[in-house]
Amino acid sequence: MRLETLAIHGGNVVTDQEKPAIQPITLSTTFIHQEGSMVYSRANNPNRAALEGLLAKLEGGEDAAAFSSGNAAGVSVFQALEPGSHLIAPDDMYHGLRNAILQLFKGVLEVTFVDMCNLSEVENAFRPNTALVWVESPSNPLLKITDIRGVAKLAKSQQALLACDNTFATPVFQNPLALGADLVMHSSTKYFGGHSDILGGALITKKKDDFWEKIRTVQKVGGAVPSPMDCYYLCRSIKTLPYRMKGHAEHAGQIASYLDQHPAVDGVYYPGLISHPSHAIAANQMSGFGGILSFLVKDGAKAADALISRLRFFTNATSLGGVESLIERRAASEGEDTLTPQNLIRVSVGLEHLDDLLEDLDQAFKG
Ligand code: PLP
Repeated sequence: MRLETLAIHGGNVVTDQEKPAIQPITLSTTFIHQEGSMVYSRANNPNRAALEGLLAKLEGGEDAAAFSSGNAAGVSVFQALEPGSHLIAPDDMYHGLRNAILQLFKGVLEVTFVDMCNLSEVENAFRPNTALVWVESPSNPLLKITDIRGVAKLAKSQQALLACDNTFATPVFQNPLALGADLVMHSSTKYFGGHSDILGGALITKKKDDFWEKIRTVQKVGGAVPSPMDCYYLCRSIKTLPYRMKGHAEHAGQIASYLDQHPAVDGVYYPGLISHPSHAIAANQMSGFGGILSFLVKDGAKAADALISRLRFFTNATSLGGVESLIERRAASEGEDTLTPQNLIRVSVGLEHLDDLLEDLDQAFKG
């Protein structure tokens, strides 16, 4: 099956005797004891199993585990590491996961934050106890691109695992497992859900190895699992993922070009632009450049806030990946410890008509 077909048929597991065409939602938290049956919904559930099967197929992995949020998925990887392990992570890692490492694993894990675009910096960061390298490409919110193949080679040579946060690219545009990663992480809250109404996360593994067993234990015992309803809705949303991503990327590319030429803009971060410093790597490892971009407003944070307040179709709210365009001055959302420039605006480009979006930006810039 090709991706579009897989997205529609890969998550529909109908076992009922009445043969509904679409898999129903199994709300029961418990299952009648019998050989081979599911037992309890924290451990497994038909809708979660369908979602996990679908995600594994989409990313080309042997198995997948669904979680109640992207952060819960990421934290499960860190929980599965042996205490005292060292991990290497990007200096512009999604701030919520950066905070999780710094706050929840203080004294438990060692971490070095590096510029993932610089392979020699990554190489120099390895220690004898390095167990994991974490990459996020494109990154949030600077849209930095990591050479996943290059980092995978380094991780392999040091017997460390490589995990990739693939939230921005989705399997429509990038398959980190095929590029050498061992694990893929997603915030399903974003493009998988696609409508800003589901919170979820996922991990996909290349191999069902011992480390994966530990992650499965964290999932089952820790219990940060999604509800059957959320799993059902994720399977439903993923059916349109390939076509949504094509629309998001097309619109983002056009808006990036518009912003790139605007005199009030001091720089645009979008890997699809030829001027992006890692455009060639992005073009080599991605089949599309995604729907998120950031840009710097020349006149500073106040001017950025004013610009956002004049927009009609870009909702000023955090998060990304929904059909509606969302915009925010990212540093204001990330709080005091932010490393993001104060005048940076992040845009999750939606599926409204492109001309409405461009006209809206034009009127907002004119003031
Ligand atoms: N990774 C990335 C790249 C994200 O953008 C986010 C959320 O914004 C997360 C992980 C965390 O996901 P969640 O908010 O579903 O916990």
